[in-house]
Order: sequence, then structure tokens, then C-alpha cells
Amino acid sequence: MYVGRFAPSPTGPLHAGSLVAALASWLDARAHGGRWLVRIEDVDTPRCVPGAPELILRQLAACGLHPDAPPLWQSWRGARYEAALAQLLAAGRAYPCACSRKDIEQAQAARGVARQRGAELPYPGTCRPERGGLRGRPPRAWRLHTTFESFEPPALCQQAQAAINSEAHTIPIEWCDRRLGPQRQNVAQEVGDFVLRRADGLWAYQLAVVVDDAEQGVTHVVRGQDLADNTPRQMLLQRALGVATPLYLHTPLVLAADGHKLSKQNGAAPLDVSDALSALRQAAAVLGLPDARAGTAGQALRDWIGDWRRQWCPAGA
Ligand code: GLU
Repeated sequence: MYVGRFAPSPTGPLHAGSLVAALASWLDARAHGGRWLVRIEDVDTPRCVPGAPELILRQLAACGLHPDAPPLWQSWRGARYEAALAQLLAAGRAYPCACSRKDIEQAQAARGVARQRGAELPYPGTCRPERGGLRGRPPRAWRLHTTFESFEPPALCQQAQAAINSEAHTIPIEWCDRRLGPQRQNVAQEVGDFVLRRADGLWAYQLAVVVDDAEQGVTHVVRGQDLADNTPRQMLLQRALGVATPLYLHTPLVLAADGHKLSKQNGAAPLDVSDALSALRQAAAVLGLPDARAGTAGQALRDWIGDWRRQWCPAGA
């Protein structure tokens, strides 16, 4: 049974870019005859804006995008994330880390690795248990140990075999995005042991999203392309927790005048849903769908389900 979801972070109202991901995930669920869920990803509380979740839900409803179950809020789910972290710690797949950002920079500088503009430095593994652990320092964050023993490749559809190389010291993940095609990332080398619980006590997006996708039975993730390079981290976590890996489709981004992804920071206007059809038409155009042949949002959505099915749902996908 297909289960899809739209998982906005309530850092502001929906804008033209976020509607693209919402529409695509809704169309994919409808085209598969599946269920479509909405999850409010409000774990990063300092970035959440009061009232934004309700506004997002009203904007979705005004566009005719109605979830098949009441929305799930991540802020309710701390106990589930706690249990997942405990499971990983017990299995030796997560460990506490005492390093500050400065410690990481110094450790990497000593190895000749400099910080690239805008990119996080990979974590060098200083606090890994096999390297001596915390050495008496208090834990700040909890991290996933990304260099595990061998893996069996997860059972995915033909299109999306995540082949995990168990002979290598580190684990390059190869996977196939339904739109972007074959992808590859060596998480241990390129990202390092990533954070599951942050130094400020908040749950990291990676852990929350994997636990929730698994518990909600999500089979197909459709979301913006800016999140594509998080997918290998999420696949590693799925393996470590022993849960299924969904299929992924990452949608085109709407770019702002500065060439970056449209976001509140670079001036994205809140989505104007007083004319839902025209908001949906813009989103549909970004997705490469034909212009609306109908005069109402509801009819246009029904037409696009067929278009989407022809474009993105070959038999078995
Ligand atoms: N909450 C994330 C965001 O709004 C999306 C998470 C996801 O779809 O996996 O960027």
C-alpha cells in the first residue's frame, strides 16, 4: 500500500517553492491510489514560527490538498526519538560526542582539511568509542557511527537498489532517485558521523524524519531537490534501525532572483491562496505538467493526476 507525505518545517507560510513539493507528493499519492499524509516538522523549535503550522494547513486546504489523516506533529514525538537513539546506542551504532565546532575545525585543520564556504566539515570521528570515546569530557551531541560492519543491500525496487559496499572501509551508498537518476555518496568520508541529537538537546532532522517515515509506513518520499543529499544519511539510519527504505523522488526547485533556492531568507512571498488555481498552475509548470485545461482548482488537480501517472508512474514504480 502506497503511503506518501508532505513534511513542512513551520518556519513560515508556504511559498511558491514549497507548494511544488506539496503538489508533487499529493499527485504521486493520488496517481498511485495511495494515502497522503502531512507531518509538521517542528523539532527545530528556535526556527519555528508560532501560527505557521496552522497557516500551512489552511494554505494546503485552500489548494485542495487534503491529507488522509490528521497531521502528525514532531514535537509530540520526543519519546519515539529517544527510543530510537537508545536502540542505536545499545547496538553500538551511535555514540556521545564532546566536540565543539571549534574542536572539529582544529582536528580537521591538523589533517589539512579546510572548511569549504557554506559547507559543514565532515566529523573526524574523534569521540568514536574505539578511539577512546569522551575521555572524561561531558557529552554534547550524539552521532551515528557511519562505518559499520557489512550490510546486505536493502530490498528496494529495481530502480532504486542501494548497493552498499561492505568490503570498503567506508560505505558508499548508491541509490536511484526516480527523477534525478543514479546517485552516490560516501557518507563516512563526505559527511562523517552525523548528529542525531544536537548539543542544544534538540532532535536532529535526520533522526526524526527516519523514525517518522518508518512509523507512518511511508513508502514513497517526494520532496524538494535541496534535500536529495540527505537521502544517503537517511538510508544509513534506516539500515541501522532495521526499518524499510522508501523510494525517493526529488522535485525541481524554484529559484529566487539570486539563483538560490527560493526561501523566506531570500524574499519568498507567502503563497497567495486567494487564487488557488493560479498558485497551482505555477507549481504544475515547475513540475513540467501541462497547463490547466480546467477552470477550477479541483478539476485541474484531477487532470494532473493522469498526467503525473503517465510521467512518473511506470508499472511497478
Ligand atoms: N521538513 C523538511 C523541510 O521542510 C522536509 C523534510 C522531508 O521532506 O524529508 O525542508
